[in-house]
Amino acid sequence: MFAPVEGGRVLSGILLVPWLALAAAPQEPPPGGGTTPGAGPAPPESAADPPLRELPFPSEALEEARRYLESANGAVERALHERRQVVADIEAAIAQFKRAAELAPAEPYPWYRIAQVCDITLSYATALEAAGKAVALKPDSAEILVLRAETLANLHRWKEAEKDWNRAQELSPRSALPHIGRARWLKMRDRKFEEATQELEEALKKDPGNPQAKSLLKRVRTEAKFPDTKDWPAGGGARHESARYIVMTNAEPAAAKFFSAHAERIYAYYTTKFPKVPGGTVKFPIYIFKDEGSFLRGTQAPRAAGYYSPDTRKLVLYIMREDVDNKTAKNLDEKYANTILVLYHEAFHQFLHTHLEDSPRWFDEGHGDFFGGAHFAPGSGLPTVGPNLWRAPYMKAILEQGDQTPFPKLLQLTMPEMYGHGVIENYTQGWSFVHYLWSDPTLFKQYLKPYLEGLQAGKGIGELYRELFEKVDWPSLEVKWRAHCRSLVSGEKK
Ligand SMILES: [Zn+2]
Repeated sequence: MFAPVEGGRVLSGILLVPWLALAAAPQEPPPGGGTTPGAGPAPPESAADPPLRELPFPSEALEEARRYLESANGAVERALHERRQVVADIEAAIAQFKRAAELAPAEPYPWYRIAQVCDITLSYATALEAAGKAVALKPDSAEILVLRAETLANLHRWKEAEKDWNRAQELSPRSALPHIGRARWLKMRDRKFEEATQELEEALKKDPGNPQAKSLLKRVRTEAKFPDTKDWPAGGGARHESARYIVMTNAEPAAAKFFSAHAERIYAYYTTKFPKVPGGTVKFPIYIFKDEGSFLRGTQAPRAAGYYSPDTRKLVLYIMREDVDNKTAKNLDEKYANTILVLYHEAFHQFLHTHLEDSPRWFDEGHGDFFGGAHFAPGSGLPTVGPNLWRAPYMKAILEQGDQTPFPKLLQLTMPEMYGHGVIENYTQGWSFVHYLWSDPTLFKQYLKPYLEGLQAGKGIGELYRELFEKVDWPSLEVKWRAHCRSLVSGEKK
């Protein structure tokens, strides 16, 4: 579909790896159960407390409410399995759950379901409101409190979340759920693996078969030994600790210092674009494998150039073959251009995670790729942000062929949709749109700033689209976006 060769270099070999790779953490998906986006809301399990089931609705007067619930649950199923219009399906489901709640005002279940499914569209504010209503209707339900705790955690309101987990534990001392919640959201995040282990062992004492506790405990034990490969020297390899990062590598020790300097430099640049937030007490760990083979053995992440694991705040990448083979580079920055691009992209995910639990894919990946195009001239604190060398060829193809994802669709893609069909085009368009929005302070004020603020307030993908983009005259904005993209990929000034 795209011109495979540019300047004599076969692009598919370089680019195939990157897009798959930057997509996610292939071998480390979020632990199952709970309200994992895309995995579907599965009610937490516990031996001590039978999960909150759909309520019996014994009265015929509540039959109508039951029909709304069924229809809403059907829309959720469509969203999760068909994945064609996830935001629209979930929003339809929420409207129907609300209708059921009006018809059955004493029942917490419809509100509980709203709080569960809002996770998929990142509508955390709506989720919190719904969870609050469910708690008000059934204040002694540990399960509802645990769901509200997760909702609060999605908004990074850790203290309030912890209070809910602790209260749930008081109400239901034999429940495994509060232990799982604290382990996953409070201990693993802060890389307190011993404390996480204690919580999870406690959970398994109370509920020996709990699948989520079992899978998390396995994960924590693997993490404590990471990277478990003979390629990685005992004692941790070379290590360089800086203000924000701990870079570890099994490459030569100088690499730790070199990439650490790059990580600090790009971090300083991220903070010129985004408001400062407390980064937490944990320094960001970055593991840099000496080559792809070593990375594969240490991570079992096939065809990945790097990934960020939000549940442990860990960033992993490797020194790319193209860089090692580059014998004509004038300096180290130029030589390691591909590895640096991956570092700048992935480190952005790590940085943004201190602001937001999750964000719409075009925004997160688009910014990762935006910063992936940053170049620091020697002695200069601020970079120029040019074209991302992995995306530019695809942008040229989009411009030539005129075929693109319609913006209203792109801006409302959820995770499985973004990484599904047309993933390269989605990344490329997300990147170019972010680049365009940063090119003009008016566009920043009109779109990006309120978008970020909205996300921090817990507004979801659909809500933010309607608030900021629904009234956009797309044909005329696209003319300007295309002109920007043409100048970006041709290197000409506008
Ligand atoms: Zn990414």
